[in-house]
Amino acid sequence: MTPKLIDLRSDTVTQPSGAMYEKMLQAPLGDDVFGEDPSVNELQTFAANLFGMEAALFCSSGTQTNQIGIKLHTQPGDEVICDALSHVYLYEGGGIAYNSAASVRLIQSERGLFTAEQVLQNINDDNVHFPHTRLVCIENTVNKGGGTCWDINELKAIKKVCIQKQLAFHLDGARLFNALVAKGESAADYGQLFDTISICLSKGLGAPVGSLLLGTKEHIYKARRIRKVMGGGMRQAGILAAAGLYALQNNIERLSQDHQKARQVEEVLRSLLWVENIYPVETNILIFKIRADLEMAELIRELEAQGIKAVSMGKHLMRFVFHLDQNMEDVGRLCEVLSGMKF
Ligand SMILES: *Cc1c(COP(=O)(O)O)cnc(C)c1O
Repeated sequence: MTPKLIDLRSDTVTQPSGAMYEKMLQAPLGDDVFGEDPSVNELQTFAANLFGMEAALFCSSGTQTNQIGIKLHTQPGDEVICDALSHVYLYEGGGIAYNSAASVRLIQSERGLFTAEQVLQNINDDNVHFPHTRLVCIENTVNKGGGTCWDINELKAIKKVCIQKQLAFHLDGARLFNALVAKGESAADYGQLFDTISICLSKGLGAPVGSLLLGTKEHIYKARRIRKVMGGGMRQAGILAAAGLYALQNNIERLSQDHQKARQVEEVLRSLLWVENIYPVETNILIFKIRADLEMAELIRELEAQGIKAVSMGKHLMRFVFHLDQNMEDVGRLCEVLSGMKF
């Protein structure tokens, strides 16, 4: 018998649970482009209240919510400050240029966490030669940093700089709830800090599709138009929104279990001679460096042969992502397989 597949490629691979499907089946539906889908409206209101923000918009993906957020805050030729590891820069198909015709200033930092001082150093003077610096974008948790969490005090310091220099502040919170659970912080703490926030329902929270953009009523009014222009106006989207609402109401606290799984596997990796370095685990992402003489493709092949799927995160870097569709038995088997591998 082939063992159950253990999919460590991403927390996006999860399937809706039975209870989530029930909510989807029961969801009252309407045409959301007319603003008439009760389930979408309920989700948006619930999320806005959770963050203490005025309004929210249900969108098809986190790429879409980030791109709408960036477009809201910039004009062509303006500059966006973000980290060199950021999703908005690396993994959104050049969307900042494509959708907003904006310029990007990259900050080099330690695992995706920069400082208010670095933001200050990267703001352009008002001079015809330079693009206008308009927006600071941060990611929490930082995917490519290995699921790192920001210190909220640094974010408050950056917020101060943004106010002082009249910059907008956007949060790519695709995995914000992982950070909140790990740090014991609340969504409302974050709602106060940012002009716009993007959260994903389709990652660790386990919904099949969907992200939310949060902001002021005025921002979200404009965001509806941008979403439509991008082809993101969905009709009876409540069938998806119902899954998202279920995820927000039931799947946040349990994220700590995924963090526990990551720590358990981290412990095993420490004893392996073919593992050179491990990024300290903070949430549900585990990134580690394999010995330079070991081929990544070989490691991936060996894992695959044991029914374990994983993908590389760069040269010699492997990423494992933990989520609600892996149980402790799966984690136990993963640990056994890893311990048994000899290179
Ligand atoms: C997954 C992710 C997104 C959004 O991705 P979509 O696949 O478009 O939903 C944005 N930012 C980060 C950090 C992510 O990990």
